[in-house]
Amino acid sequence: MAVRYGIVCDSCKKLLLIFPEGKSSRIRYDRSLAGFTAKCIPPCSNIIHFNKGMLMPYVVPDAATQRGQADLVDCRPVAKSHEAFRQVNE
Ligand SMILES: [Zn+2]
Repeated sequence: MAVRYGIVCDSCKKLLLIFPEGKSSRIRYDRSLAGFTAKCIPPCSNIIHFNKGMLMPYVVPDAATQRGQADLVDCRPVAKSHEAFRQVNE
């Protein structure tokens, strides 16, 4: 288990893990949006727009970290859990 920052995909409702090192080619900074865009994991083709303030820390399983994506049921928000789930439900 590791703490990772992630954002929930509106389309597949899974947690897309965002790596602060910026290693992933799926994540880009978009100057026109003044924020980031991230491609979800196939077969989901959703493009997620986010900024750093929207990222929430979660404890996720190691296998999910390797996939870059986790099912929400496998994750536990580290802090501000009520806010995290409210964002998911909106
Ligand atoms: Zn998705």
